[in-house]
Amino acid sequence: MTEKGDGARPARIGVLALQGAFAEHIAHLGRLGAHALPVRLPAELQGMDGLVIPGGESTSIALLMAEYGLVGPVLELAEGGTPIMGTCAGAILLAASAHPGIATLGAMDIEVKRNAFGRQVDSFEADLDIAAIGAPPFPAVFIRAPSIERVGEAVEVMARLDDGTIVAARQGALVALAFHPELTDDTRFHAYFLDLVETSRRGGDR
Ligand code: GLN
Repeated sequence: MTEKGDGARPARIGVLALQGAFAEHIAHLGRLGAHALPVRLPAELQGMDGLVIPGGESTSIALLMAEYGLVGPVLELAEGGTPIMGTCAGAILLAASAHPGIATLGAMDIEVKRNAFGRQVDSFEADLDIAAIGAPPFPAVFIRAPSIERVGEAVEVMARLDDGTIVAARQGALVALAFHPELTDDTRFHAYFLDLVETSRRGGDR
């Protein structure tokens, strides 16, 4: 087995593939040169340098994670400093709590409101200024998206809508995005995540 920190080996990124938009994440990560693999069973998390929890239906993903025995192993990855990016339903799952409530993982000190933008605006696109991503603004696709209602002290706000609503946040190597960066051609968020993964492979000087 190759050692952690060996930059010559492409990063191995697991994409939770229980339900939702996982194929698009695998495609984006592959385009950037990472070795992205679907994960359905705890054993498939073995040797992963990072994990993506995709969008979909957070209630279904939470139930399937519990049923497949993935909750403990994913929390262990988070606690061990392995980068994890949750998008939309994935961000809900990373949160300490969600309203309406579901069994979240509680990996990040954030509270989210599910379907925060109401039935009238089921989906929309917004160009976000995100310092970590740089110019031009990132074209963010929101689909029955959550908002991040509260962030703890250890959490950095990465992006807000014009009205101030928090839609992206980072806590160490954990990234929560209310939107779907995998549904546009723009791969800059995945590249940012792979940078976090490389930092963690080098020993985690964040
Ligand atoms: N509304 C969904 C939920 O609450 C999330 C939607 C999405 O991931 N696009 O789980």
